[in-house]
Amino acid sequence: MATVTCGSLLPSWGAWPVLDWLLHGLVKMFADLHLHSRFSDGTYTPTELVEQALRQKLAAIALTDHDTVEGCGPTAAACEAAGIEFICGTELTAEQEGHEIHVLGYCLDLQNPRFLEEIGKFQAVRQNRIREIVSRLNQLEVPLGAEAVFALANCRSPGRPHVARALVEAGLCDNLDEAFERFLKKNRPAWVPKFKMSVAAAIELIHQAGGVAVMAHPGLTRADDQIASMVEAGLDGIECHHTKHTPSVVSHYLQVARRFNLLITGGSDCHGMNKGKPLIGTVKVPYDYVPLLKAKAASTYHFAQ
Ligand code: AMP
Ligand code: ZN
Ligand code: FE
Ligand code: FE
Repeated sequence: MATVTCGSLLPSWGAWPVLDWLLHGLVKMFADLHLHSRFSDGTYTPTELVEQALRQKLAAIALTDHDTVEGCGPTAAACEAAGIEFICGTELTAEQEGHEIHVLGYCLDLQNPRFLEEIGKFQAVRQNRIREIVSRLNQLEVPLGAEAVFALANCRSPGRPHVARALVEAGLCDNLDEAFERFLKKNRPAWVPKFKMSVAAAIELIHQAGGVAVMAHPGLTRADDQIASMVEAGLDGIECHHTKHTPSVVSHYLQVARRFNLLITGGSDCHGMNKGKPLIGTVKVPYDYVPLLKAKAASTYHFAQ
Protein backbone atom coordinates (compact mmCIF):
# COMPACT_ATOMS: atom_id res chain seq x y z
CA MET A 1 0.00 0.00 0.00
CA ALA A 2 1.39 3.39 -0.93
CA THR A 3 1.24 5.96 1.82
CA VAL A 4 2.74 9.40 2.01
CA THR A 5 3.11 11.09 5.35
CA CYS A 6 1.04 14.16 5.93
CA GLY A 7 4.23 16.15 6.40
CA SER A 8 4.84 15.97 2.67
CA LEU A 9 1.99 18.44 2.13
CA LEU A 10 3.88 21.20 3.87
CA PRO A 11 7.35 22.62 3.32
CA SER A 12 9.79 21.26 5.84
CA TRP A 13 12.57 23.10 7.61
CA GLY A 14 14.31 19.91 8.64
CA ALA A 15 17.24 21.80 10.09
CA TRP A 16 14.97 23.81 12.41
CA PRO A 17 12.66 21.30 14.07
CA VAL A 18 11.00 24.01 16.17
CA LEU A 19 9.87 25.86 13.02
CA ASP A 20 8.66 22.56 11.58
CA TRP A 21 6.66 21.83 14.71
CA LEU A 22 5.18 25.36 14.77
CA LEU A 23 4.14 25.20 11.12
CA HIS A 24 2.48 21.82 11.49
CA GLY A 25 0.74 22.96 14.65
CA LEU A 26 -0.59 26.15 13.06
CA VAL A 27 -1.85 24.69 9.80
CA LYS A 28 -4.96 22.65 10.47
CA MET A 29 -5.09 19.48 8.45
CA PHE A 30 -8.20 17.51 7.58
CA ALA A 31 -9.26 14.10 6.34
CA ASP A 32 -12.31 12.51 4.70
CA LEU A 33 -12.59 8.90 5.82
CA HIS A 34 -15.72 7.82 3.92
CA LEU A 35 -15.55 7.98 0.13
CA HIS A 36 -16.90 5.83 -2.69
CA SER A 37 -15.52 5.48 -6.21
CA ARG A 38 -16.68 3.90 -9.45
CA PHE A 39 -15.41 0.57 -8.08
CA SER A 40 -18.70 0.44 -6.18
CA ASP A 41 -21.57 2.90 -6.49
CA GLY A 42 -19.67 6.17 -6.81
CA THR A 43 -19.02 7.94 -10.09
CA TYR A 44 -15.45 9.20 -9.62
CA THR A 45 -12.45 7.31 -10.89
CA PRO A 46 -9.56 7.19 -8.39
CA THR A 47 -7.86 10.02 -10.30
CA GLU A 48 -10.98 12.20 -10.21
CA LEU A 49 -11.49 11.46 -6.51
CA VAL A 50 -7.93 12.46 -5.67
CA GLU A 51 -8.25 15.63 -7.80
CA GLN A 52 -11.28 16.55 -5.67
CA ALA A 53 -9.37 15.73 -2.48
CA LEU A 54 -6.56 18.04 -3.60
CA ARG A 55 -9.08 20.78 -4.36
CA GLN A 56 -10.47 20.37 -0.85
CA LYS A 57 -6.92 20.48 0.56
CA LEU A 58 -7.40 17.18 2.35
CA ALA A 59 -4.29 15.74 4.00
CA ALA A 60 -5.66 12.19 4.04
CA ILE A 61 -8.49 10.21 2.50
CA ALA A 62 -9.89 6.71 2.91
CA LEU A 63 -11.66 4.80 0.14
CA THR A 64 -14.59 2.80 1.54
CA ASP A 65 -16.31 1.19 -1.44
CA HIS A 66 -19.07 -1.30 -0.66
CA ASP A 67 -17.86 -4.91 -0.28
CA THR A 68 -14.69 -4.32 -2.29
CA VAL A 69 -11.12 -3.03 -2.12
CA GLU A 70 -10.73 -3.09 -5.92
CA GLY A 71 -10.19 0.68 -6.08
CA CYS A 72 -7.61 0.85 -3.29
CA GLY A 73 -4.54 0.13 -5.44
CA PRO A 74 -5.24 2.84 -8.05
CA THR A 75 -6.38 5.34 -5.41
CA ALA A 76 -3.23 4.73 -3.34
CA ALA A 77 -1.13 5.41 -6.46
CA ALA A 78 -3.06 8.60 -7.27
CA CYS A 79 -2.72 9.75 -3.64
CA GLU A 80 1.00 9.06 -3.62
CA ALA A 81 1.45 11.19 -6.74
CA ALA A 82 -0.61 13.98 -5.15
CA GLY A 83 1.09 13.89 -1.73
CA ILE A 84 -2.09 12.83 0.06
CA GLU A 85 -2.05 10.11 2.71
CA PHE A 86 -4.21 7.12 1.80
CA ILE A 87 -6.01 4.60 3.97
CA CYS A 88 -7.45 1.55 2.30
CA GLY A 89 -10.89 0.68 3.51
CA THR A 90 -14.23 -0.85 2.68
CA GLU A 91 -17.87 -0.62 3.82
CA LEU A 92 -19.45 -3.99 4.59
CA THR A 93 -23.22 -4.39 4.72
CA ALA A 94 -24.10 -6.41 7.81
CA GLU A 95 -27.09 -7.05 10.02
CA GLN A 96 -27.86 -7.59 13.64
CA GLU A 97 -31.26 -8.27 15.15
CA GLY A 98 -33.08 -7.05 12.06
CA HIS A 99 -31.06 -3.84 11.71
CA GLU A 100 -28.98 -3.23 8.59
CA ILE A 101 -25.67 -1.97 9.93
CA HIS A 102 -22.78 -0.78 7.75
CA VAL A 103 -19.35 -1.61 9.11
CA LEU A 104 -16.36 0.34 7.84
CA GLY A 105 -13.00 -1.43 7.76
CA TYR A 106 -9.80 0.67 7.73
CA CYS A 107 -6.08 -0.05 7.27
CA LEU A 108 -6.79 -3.42 5.69
CA ASP A 109 -4.09 -5.73 4.43
CA LEU A 110 -4.99 -5.87 0.73
CA GLN A 111 -3.20 -9.21 0.35
CA ASN A 112 -5.07 -10.96 3.17
CA PRO A 113 -6.31 -14.18 1.50
CA ARG A 114 -9.32 -14.84 3.73
CA PHE A 115 -10.53 -11.27 3.43
CA LEU A 116 -10.25 -11.39 -0.36
CA GLU A 117 -11.99 -14.77 -0.52
CA GLU A 118 -14.87 -13.64 1.72
CA ILE A 119 -15.51 -10.33 -0.05
CA GLY A 120 -15.27 -12.26 -3.34
CA LYS A 121 -18.32 -14.21 -2.15
CA PHE A 122 -20.21 -10.98 -1.41
CA GLN A 123 -19.29 -9.66 -4.84
CA ALA A 124 -20.71 -12.87 -6.41
CA VAL A 125 -23.89 -12.37 -4.37
CA ARG A 126 -24.13 -8.79 -5.70
CA GLN A 127 -23.64 -9.97 -9.31
CA ASN A 128 -26.34 -12.64 -8.92
CA ARG A 129 -28.63 -10.05 -7.38
CA ILE A 130 -28.22 -7.86 -10.48
CA ARG A 131 -29.28 -10.84 -12.63
CA GLU A 132 -32.33 -11.37 -10.39
CA ILE A 133 -33.27 -7.65 -10.51
CA VAL A 134 -32.97 -7.67 -14.31
CA SER A 135 -35.05 -10.82 -14.56
CA ARG A 136 -37.79 -9.15 -12.51
CA LEU A 137 -37.59 -6.10 -14.76
CA ASN A 138 -37.95 -8.37 -17.79
CA GLN A 139 -41.04 -9.98 -16.23
CA LEU A 140 -42.41 -6.43 -16.02
CA GLU A 141 -41.63 -6.13 -19.76
CA VAL A 142 -38.79 -3.69 -19.18
CA PRO A 143 -36.26 -4.83 -21.80
CA LEU A 144 -32.94 -4.41 -19.96
CA GLY A 145 -30.10 -6.96 -20.22
CA ALA A 146 -27.86 -7.91 -17.29
CA GLU A 147 -24.84 -7.51 -19.56
CA ALA A 148 -25.70 -3.83 -20.11
CA VAL A 149 -25.63 -3.32 -16.34
CA PHE A 150 -22.34 -5.19 -15.93
CA ALA A 151 -20.76 -3.26 -18.81
CA LEU A 152 -21.81 0.04 -17.27
CA ALA A 153 -20.73 -0.98 -13.74
CA ASN A 154 -17.39 -2.38 -14.92
CA CYS A 155 -16.50 -3.43 -11.38
CA ARG A 156 -16.81 -6.49 -9.15
CA SER A 157 -19.26 -4.94 -6.71
CA PRO A 158 -22.27 -3.73 -8.74
CA GLY A 159 -25.42 -2.41 -7.07
CA ARG A 160 -28.83 -0.90 -7.69
CA PRO A 161 -27.44 2.51 -8.76
CA HIS A 162 -25.83 0.75 -11.74
CA VAL A 163 -29.20 -0.76 -12.70
CA ALA A 164 -30.77 2.69 -12.33
CA ARG A 165 -28.14 4.26 -14.59
CA ALA A 166 -28.54 1.47 -17.15
CA LEU A 167 -32.32 2.07 -17.17
CA VAL A 168 -31.76 5.78 -17.81
CA GLU A 169 -29.11 5.18 -20.49
CA ALA A 170 -31.45 2.75 -22.29
CA GLY A 171 -34.18 5.40 -22.24
CA LEU A 172 -36.38 3.20 -20.04
CA CYS A 173 -36.51 5.76 -17.21
CA ASP A 174 -36.09 9.53 -17.31
CA ASN A 175 -33.80 9.74 -14.28
CA LEU A 176 -32.31 7.78 -11.38
CA ASP A 177 -35.08 8.81 -8.97
CA GLU A 178 -37.72 7.42 -11.31
CA ALA A 179 -35.80 4.14 -11.60
CA PHE A 180 -35.72 3.75 -7.80
CA GLU A 181 -39.29 4.92 -7.29
CA ARG A 182 -40.81 2.67 -9.94
CA PHE A 183 -38.64 -0.43 -9.67
CA LEU A 184 -35.67 -0.57 -7.31
CA LYS A 185 -36.65 0.83 -3.91
CA LYS A 186 -37.42 -1.59 -1.11
CA ASN A 187 -40.73 -3.36 -1.80
CA ARG A 188 -40.94 -2.03 -5.37
CA PRO A 189 -41.47 -4.75 -8.03
CA ALA A 190 -37.81 -5.26 -9.00
CA TRP A 191 -36.38 -4.97 -5.50
CA VAL A 192 -34.34 -7.96 -4.41
CA PRO A 193 -33.10 -8.22 -0.82
CA LYS A 194 -29.36 -8.43 -0.31
CA PHE A 195 -27.69 -11.17 1.70
CA LYS A 196 -25.92 -9.65 4.71
CA MET A 197 -23.31 -11.12 7.02
CA SER A 198 -23.65 -10.69 10.76
CA VAL A 199 -22.03 -7.65 12.35
CA ALA A 200 -19.82 -9.94 14.46
CA ALA A 201 -18.63 -11.73 11.30
CA ALA A 202 -17.87 -8.39 9.60
CA ILE A 203 -15.84 -7.20 12.60
CA GLU A 204 -13.93 -10.49 12.79
CA LEU A 205 -13.23 -10.44 9.03
CA ILE A 206 -11.84 -6.90 9.24
CA HIS A 207 -9.72 -7.70 12.31
CA GLN A 208 -8.15 -10.80 10.84
CA ALA A 209 -7.13 -8.66 7.82
CA GLY A 210 -5.34 -6.26 10.16
CA GLY A 211 -8.09 -3.67 10.02
CA VAL A 212 -10.02 -1.43 12.34
CA ALA A 213 -13.83 -1.92 12.48
CA VAL A 214 -16.02 1.18 12.69
CA MET A 215 -19.81 1.53 12.81
CA ALA A 216 -20.83 3.71 9.83
CA HIS A 217 -23.32 6.60 10.10
CA PRO A 218 -25.04 5.51 13.35
CA GLY A 219 -27.40 8.47 13.01
CA LEU A 220 -28.86 6.91 9.87
CA THR A 221 -28.82 3.37 11.20
CA ARG A 222 -30.74 4.18 14.37
CA ALA A 223 -29.67 1.06 16.22
CA ASP A 224 -28.16 2.48 19.39
CA ASP A 225 -29.43 -0.53 21.33
CA GLN A 226 -27.04 -2.70 19.26
CA ILE A 227 -23.89 -0.71 20.04
CA ALA A 228 -23.03 -2.41 23.36
CA SER A 229 -23.07 -5.87 21.78
CA MET A 230 -21.07 -4.60 18.79
CA VAL A 231 -18.47 -3.33 21.25
CA GLU A 232 -18.49 -6.81 22.86
CA ALA A 233 -17.84 -8.23 19.38
CA GLY A 234 -14.77 -6.01 19.06
CA LEU A 235 -16.01 -2.79 17.45
CA ASP A 236 -13.14 -0.28 17.46
CA GLY A 237 -14.76 2.97 16.43
CA ILE A 238 -17.85 4.92 15.50
CA GLU A 239 -18.43 7.37 12.64
CA CYS A 240 -19.58 10.40 14.62
CA HIS A 241 -19.20 12.87 11.72
CA HIS A 242 -21.25 12.22 8.58
CA THR A 243 -23.03 14.33 5.99
CA LYS A 244 -26.43 13.32 7.33
CA HIS A 245 -25.60 13.89 11.02
CA THR A 246 -26.92 17.13 12.50
CA PRO A 247 -24.78 18.85 15.16
CA SER A 248 -26.90 17.30 17.92
CA VAL A 249 -26.50 13.83 16.39
CA VAL A 250 -22.73 14.40 16.21
CA SER A 251 -22.54 15.39 19.86
CA HIS A 252 -24.70 12.41 20.87
CA TYR A 253 -22.32 9.96 19.15
CA LEU A 254 -19.26 11.74 20.51
CA GLN A 255 -20.69 10.90 23.94
CA VAL A 256 -21.33 7.31 22.86
CA ALA A 257 -17.71 7.10 21.67
CA ARG A 258 -16.51 8.35 25.04
CA ARG A 259 -18.79 5.97 26.97
CA PHE A 260 -17.55 2.89 25.07
CA ASN A 261 -13.98 4.14 24.57
CA LEU A 262 -14.34 4.01 20.78
CA LEU A 263 -12.23 5.74 18.14
CA ILE A 264 -13.98 8.64 16.40
CA THR A 265 -14.10 8.81 12.61
CA GLY A 266 -16.03 10.72 10.00
CA GLY A 267 -16.45 11.43 6.35
CA SER A 268 -18.69 12.78 3.65
CA ASP A 269 -19.88 9.43 2.18
CA CYS A 270 -19.33 11.06 -1.22
CA HIS A 271 -20.62 9.02 -4.17
CA GLY A 272 -19.47 11.50 -6.82
CA MET A 273 -22.38 12.69 -8.95
CA ASN A 274 -24.64 9.75 -7.99
CA LYS A 275 -26.36 11.64 -5.20
CA GLY A 276 -26.97 14.90 -6.99
CA LYS A 277 -23.83 16.76 -5.99
CA PRO A 278 -20.41 15.57 -4.89
CA LEU A 279 -20.22 15.60 -1.09
CA ILE A 280 -16.44 15.48 -0.71
CA GLY A 281 -15.40 18.51 1.31
CA THR A 282 -18.72 18.84 3.14
CA VAL A 283 -17.47 16.81 6.12
CA LYS A 284 -13.82 17.21 7.06
CA VAL A 285 -12.50 15.60 10.21
CA PRO A 286 -9.30 16.54 12.03
CA TYR A 287 -6.28 14.76 10.57
CA ASP A 288 -5.44 13.66 14.14
CA TYR A 289 -7.96 10.81 13.79
CA VAL A 290 -5.74 9.19 11.15
CA PRO A 291 -2.70 8.29 13.30
CA LEU A 292 -5.07 7.01 15.98
CA LEU A 293 -6.70 4.66 13.44
CA LYS A 294 -3.29 3.49 12.26
CA ALA A 295 -2.03 2.96 15.78
CA LYS A 296 -5.10 0.85 16.56
CA ALA A 297 -4.54 -1.25 13.45
CA ALA A 298 -0.86 -1.71 14.27
CA SER A 299 -1.64 -2.74 17.85
CA THR A 300 -4.16 -5.42 16.94
CA TYR A 301 -2.86 -6.90 13.70
CA HIS A 302 -2.54 -10.64 13.74
CA PHE A 303 -2.71 -13.11 10.90
CA ALA A 304 -5.35 -15.72 11.62
CA GLN A 305 -4.50 -18.02 8.74
P1 AMP B 1 -27.38 -1.62 -3.13
O1 AMP B 1 -26.07 -1.75 -2.41
O2 AMP B 1 -27.36 -2.31 -4.43
O3 AMP B 1 -28.56 -2.03 -2.30
O4 AMP B 1 -27.58 -0.08 -3.47
C1 AMP B 1 -27.47 0.87 -2.47
C2 AMP B 1 -27.23 2.20 -3.11
O5 AMP B 1 -28.43 2.63 -3.73
C3 AMP B 1 -26.81 3.26 -2.12
O6 AMP B 1 -25.76 4.04 -2.67
C4 AMP B 1 -28.05 4.09 -2.00
O7 AMP B 1 -27.77 5.41 -1.70
C5 AMP B 1 -28.66 3.98 -3.38
N1 AMP B 1 -30.10 4.24 -3.26
C6 AMP B 1 -30.95 3.60 -2.46
N2 AMP B 1 -32.20 4.12 -2.60
C7 AMP B 1 -32.10 5.13 -3.50
C8 AMP B 1 -33.02 6.06 -4.08
N3 AMP B 1 -34.32 6.06 -3.73
N4 AMP B 1 -32.55 6.95 -4.99
C9 AMP B 1 -31.25 6.95 -5.34
N5 AMP B 1 -30.31 6.08 -4.84
C10 AMP B 1 -30.74 5.20 -3.92
ZN1 ZN C 1 -23.13 3.60 -1.45
FE1 FE D 1 -23.48 3.18 4.30
FE1 FE E 1 -20.99 4.74 2.28
